[in-house]
Amino acid sequence: MPAGSHRFQVGALWCTVLSDGYVANPASWYFPNAGGAELAEALAGRGPDSETVLSPYTCLLVETGSEVVLADAGMGNGSSTSGAILARLEVAGIRPRDVTTVVLTHAHPDHIGGAVDWRNPRAPLPMFPNARYVMAEAEWDFWTSAWVDLRGLRVSDDVKRAMPLTARRCLDALRHQVELIGRETEIVPGMRAIPAPGHTPGHLALLLSSEGRRLLNLGDAAVHPLHLEHPEWENGFDLDPHRAVATRRSLLERAAAEHMHVMAFHFPFPSVGCVAARSLASGGWDWTPGW
Ligand SMILES: [Zn+2]
Repeated sequence: MPAGSHRFQVGALWCTVLSDGYVANPASWYFPNAGGAELAEALAGRGPDSETVLSPYTCLLVETGSEVVLADAGMGNGSSTSGAILARLEVAGIRPRDVTTVVLTHAHPDHIGGAVDWRNPRAPLPMFPNARYVMAEAEWDFWTSAWVDLRGLRVSDDVKRAMPLTARRCLDALRHQVELIGRETEIVPGMRAIPAPGHTPGHLALLLSSEGRRLLNLGDAAVHPLHLEHPEWENGFDLDPHRAVATRRSLLERAAAEHMHVMAFHFPFPSVGCVAARSLASGGWDWTPGW
């Protein structure tokens, strides 16, 4: 397990990044259009080897004084290297019933699995019994449609088969507490959800703003710092890679121009940092971790 929690303030908003765990993925899934030699060189020293990416799951807890918001819930107990979110919340002083809002950037299993209590697998329940679960209507419609077309993904067939099954079981368990949004929406004072499609049809970014400080949570608009240095490098989990790259560029341009801090769910813990435009002709952004 990586180090588990890190607390900081965005103005009057108390924020804590909480690690749910991590997954080891083939590098080719995260960088399907990167050149082999260039990718191996770029990954050298960043993971166990140049063919594997250790990808953390980092959720964001936001306490406003009246609201307790959890942005993404992690994978939960769906793998042997995840499921720490409840313990991390408890150490942060938060019980499941205290959470008032869960925001799901999208319905991939590593973001939604922890939102559901699987102790009775035949009758899964919302993990946070008093929370409303906010997500994009386009995301709900995509995963609950009769035919979920994942042919555009460049990951294994096993992963493509498992994703819709998990999404449907989770969304079904959450159906009585879900709140669907169709456009940019203020979720609680100081926190807005911004449509950021491409990774999935209803993927959301989150913008926190208080007392002149801002944090832009990219969700999965970038899943590795190399996606900042090489914004043209696609992610095999992006359903619409061209749209995903355009979304990534526009979010990062905004973050750099407006001097926002940035968070990304899969970046090395604590998954927060700053971006700065590179002066190179190739473009891209440098990532400086930390708050
Ligand atoms: Zn993810």
